[in-house]
Amino acid sequence: LAQLYGPLNSLGYIYRSINQSLVDTEKLLKLLAEPSDVTDKPNAPDLIVTDGEIEFQDVHFSYDGRGTALRGISFKVPKGSSVALVGESGAGKSTILRLLYRFYDLGEGEGRILIDGQDIRDVTQSSLRKAIGVVPQDSVLFNASIAYNIGYGKFGASPDEVEAAAMSAQMHDRIMSFPDGYETKVGERGIRLSGGEKQRIAIARTLLKNPPILLLDEATSALDTSTEKDIQKALQNLVQGRSSLSIAHRLSTIASADLILVLQNGQVVEQGTHKELVAQDGVFASMWADQVSASEEPAASVRSSVKK
Ligand code: ATP
Repeated sequence: LAQLYGPLNSLGYIYRSINQSLVDTEKLLKLLAEPSDVTDKPNAPDLIVTDGEIEFQDVHFSYDGRGTALRGISFKVPKGSSVALVGESGAGKSTILRLLYRFYDLGEGEGRILIDGQDIRDVTQSSLRKAIGVVPQDSVLFNASIAYNIGYGKFGASPDEVEAAAMSAQMHDRIMSFPDGYETKVGERGIRLSGGEKQRIAIARTLLKNPPILLLDEATSALDTSTEKDIQKALQNLVQGRSSLSIAHRLSTIASADLILVLQNGQVVEQGTHKELVAQDGVFASMWADQVSASEEPAASVRSSVKK
């Protein structure tokens, strides 16, 4: 049995690598941890990404045919821009990300979701998922070395590529402080990483995957200021030049998003930049005021955003 272990293990590695886009989802994503009953149409072509532009056109969706999760959502994420979703629990933020990842297909009369003009129902799921990188709230790591956990983003990644990704994800120095550097094992039988460190490993992995489209789910738990800064920098490097759709809980982290959509009860009730929304004095402005009064930290951002 022990003799079989080596070959089986490397077969497993190859299998995992080939199926990377699917396994990524199924194993790593709490956000998207839902059974998928979507099937490709016969002879469906692959998605062809030119710009990575995303468009939701009047999307309606219900999980069970009774409650309504989305009621007429329309928006565009132009090439390379960042769109953030905010709103109270149950407003429909995760549903938007799940639909874009095609965990459910829209039915007749429920609107359309397009990437570079192609209806995502008409293309293969594998090509769609290859084009999308996901950084979930809680990144799950394998019980393996840090190098493996990062390199998983790209089949056959070289050690130099792994290191470059870790640098861009603001994780290289931290990794070098571990006893075996990149060969340090993480997980149950290795060192334990903090939530912020795990997230930076997930960012490094996604940098290696190099997808044109990104889905980000910001961690709800508060991080200390220096970790927060490192993650923000890592995310900046990741979203650079890519179309991104993120769920934000801390409004201070999306001050520079190109567009913020405020969701309430499955509808977009306000949209604009941070500055525009604060000036509107509506739902977003009151959410912002609540977060500012709840913490000292965003208060500093208020002052800086007012100054701009
Ligand atoms: P949170 O910030 O708490 O994650 P959210 O804004 O992401 O909330 P969604 O998870 O998109 O909200 O939920 C939108 C609506 O759909 C809610 O009314 C929710 O109860 C419902 N819903 C979400 N997932 C399912 C599911 N798997 N089955 C049935 N209803 C669901």
